[in-house]
Amino acid sequence: MSEVVVDSSGTRVDLEPKTIVDAVRRAVGTPNGMLGLHEPVFAGNEVAYLEECIKSTFVSSVGPFVDRFERMLEEVTGTKRAVAVVNGTAALHACFRLAGVEPGDEVISPALTFIATTNAIAYCGAVPHFVDSSLETLGMDARALAVRLEAIAQKTATGTINRETGRRIAAIAPMHTFGHPVDLDAIAALADEWNIALVEDAAESLGSTYKGHPVGSQARLAALSFNGNKIVTTGGGGAILTNDEALGRRAKHLTTTAKLPHKWAFIHDEVGYNYRLPNLNAALGCAQLEQLDGFMASKRKLAAVYERAFAHIPGVRFSREPKDTTSNYWLNAILLDEAHAGRRDEVLAALNDAGFGARPAWTLMHRLPMFAQSPRGDLSTAESIERRLINLPSSASIRARDE
Ligand SMILES: *Cc1c(COP(=O)(O)O)cnc(C)c1O
Repeated sequence: MSEVVVDSSGTRVDLEPKTIVDAVRRAVGTPNGMLGLHEPVFAGNEVAYLEECIKSTFVSSVGPFVDRFERMLEEVTGTKRAVAVVNGTAALHACFRLAGVEPGDEVISPALTFIATTNAIAYCGAVPHFVDSSLETLGMDARALAVRLEAIAQKTATGTINRETGRRIAAIAPMHTFGHPVDLDAIAALADEWNIALVEDAAESLGSTYKGHPVGSQARLAALSFNGNKIVTTGGGGAILTNDEALGRRAKHLTTTAKLPHKWAFIHDEVGYNYRLPNLNAALGCAQLEQLDGFMASKRKLAAVYERAFAHIPGVRFSREPKDTTSNYWLNAILLDEAHAGRRDEVLAALNDAGFGARPAWTLMHRLPMFAQSPRGDLSTAESIERRLINLPSSASIRARDE
């Protein structure tokens, strides 16, 4: 089933799925069974801390591991306050609420993201407004954001509104795709200029840095995820990050049923959420965070080996970290040239048949029925990325093969 593709200069360019399978095999060897896209690694104090937690009987919503996990997160991300919650989606929901997103507002977000970013906007009764992604960062494109704001936004006494829908634009929510930081300075400058809150979806990017600063430390609010497939896992879990102490206190309050501290009385001063992370999960998280540097090192080594394996294969490009950033390379990605986009599924099938748990990008948010009517700018780059991106097995346990 060989297809002949001719490039703009008329030169014949073939891309055989086997070439890609061979490159992956050169990088990581022949798998024994199926090599998953991202598997957790429990090589530290996990069992010891879990045992300690169970023996203490404090396995649920309070306990010392939650505090310890939060202090460790503050240290790793360089933020003043981390609040641990049940999952990354809950963290995002709380971040949007804390940023002042209200029913009927709009939140600008990428179409190329995991459903959690968009769902969390909808949980607030708000409407996502999609802007295009950058080929370099795979995240929100600052230029596309600038163009879109220029086209539709208007400053008013009550905030910046979308002139076309009349709705207030309450937040801008970039997401650091697969660990690659977005161009945060440019996006933050636009958020400032238009007086719109910036909320970072840093769910995939714990450990990544932008101009030397950990991601999640620059915006007023950021969300992390510790789902089983993330770089660090608590089984399920997430965290809210902020440098604003008052906002941090409010984050804790809102995610712990908004209960006023009292020896025995049950008084809640607003509709809060039961979003707190159980102590049992936090115990796992403490053990995992102790290994973050090691996970980063092994994932970055794997990325370097993939990059080399694909360096001389025409028609395919390895997605490397954007300049001025350090990516945690949560998921490694390759992009087929547009000329070969039609063969993506053949490549995916060949990789999976060979035991490599490769995956396509997420279906873009505006194609999903519940967000099909959402406002959006031009999404041609996101659509192009969607057609031709392939994620490769990326677990920290994979032993990259040095040539
Ligand atoms: C994982 C992830 C989340 C959070 O997911 P949970 O499973 O709820 O922890 C949010 N946004 C993105 C982009 C993610 O990849």
